[in-house]
Amino acid sequence: MKVMLEDMRWPEVEEALKTPNVVILPTGCLEQHGRHLPLSVDTRCAAHVSELGAIRVRKEKNIRALVAPPVSYGETFTFRHYPGTVGLSVDTTIRVIEDIVRGFISQGFKNILVINGHFSNTLPISVALRKISSDFPELGLFAVYWWVLGSEFILGERKSDVMAHACELETSATLVIQPENVDMNEAVKEIPPLPLPEKWFSCDFYGSRKLIHTARKFPQMGEDAGVMGDPTVSSKEYGEKAIEACVDGLTELLVEIVESEGRIQ
Ligand SMILES: [Zn+2]
Repeated sequence: MKVMLEDMRWPEVEEALKTPNVVILPTGCLEQHGRHLPLSVDTRCAAHVSELGAIRVRKEKNIRALVAPPVSYGETFTFRHYPGTVGLSVDTTIRVIEDIVRGFISQGFKNILVINGHFSNTLPISVALRKISSDFPELGLFAVYWWVLGSEFILGERKSDVMAHACELETSATLVIQPENVDMNEAVKEIPPLPLPEKWFSCDFYGSRKLIHTARKFPQMGEDAGVMGDPTVSSKEYGEKAIEACVDGLTELLVEIVESEGRIQ
């Protein structure tokens, strides 16, 4: 059962367009993830959840979710001083997302879901989708972080109280997805100093609502391992269950997206 768009022949894509469908576009970046994780964490986590969700929704709900090749570069300003971290400008990130999504629309796809694995892509993705929606207000354009799809389990069962970057969740998921690229001997707990007092800003990006948005660099960033959270409490078991919870959430969301199509005039 093929779900990866790049593995399909054009007649197979043509066929998929005739049935209820959603294009999933995973987005990540090439960015440092502490001394213990590879640069591809954000991209690989988003792509992995996308693929499993697409397989599940095809099997159980007969909905075609086609997973597009991931966007492996993103806007990564904060960590650019770390070796290997290479990003796109904000403007380029917007253009890349916009051009890809417009390409799918021109092919006749009506539902596009961006599954993002990288915080700094959030605003460029929102701008890109917003720009497109002013031309195509009836289309189903959506974006979500992969971990939000399983947040009830992820937050309910976590051992650490700060999750943001190269943390318990990203490390646990990577132990499942690409264990050969993890070195747990190098994992350290780090909670960087905040750019503003805790009253205004939380480092627990997954769990707490940040009260204000800041584009400012974190103090001392670039002088440490590059972790925000506690990867030392990570486990493959937590990673497997977290991914499973996200795939459950994604399956439900894909069904809702397809069903919502008929309700928009
Ligand atoms: Zn990450």
